[in-house]
Amino acid sequence: MKTARLQTAPPGEKIAAKRAGRLATTPDSAKGHFVAAWAGKCSPRRAIKAQCLECVGFDRQAIAGCTGWACPLWAFRPFQKRAGFLASDDADTVVSNKEDA
Ligand code: SF4
Repeated sequence: MKTARLQTAPPGEKIAAKRAGRLATTPDSAKGHFVAAWAGKCSPRRAIKAQCLECVGFDRQAIAGCTGWACPLWAFRPFQKRAGFLASDDADTVVSNKEDA
């Protein structure tokens, strides 16, 4: 859908066009996460996985080693266990540092 026409399109058409554009740049292996999340037919965990995958260019290792510590999804990002790292380890440190203050 052309940009000018999209601006005056009904909301449903705008949403469909935006989502189609996003899927066009999404690898087949991750498309199901997006479709399920948009439909509200998955867990919040799966929706977070979709967001994280897109954020780092669909590189699972990059999610595990993500340094976006200020991101609200950081503690919930997938693939931490596989990399032998858990955000909760750092969260415990932050909490204990606050307790020390
Ligand atoms: S936790 Fe990291 S990979 Fe996931 S959305 Fe935030 S910055 Fe991106």
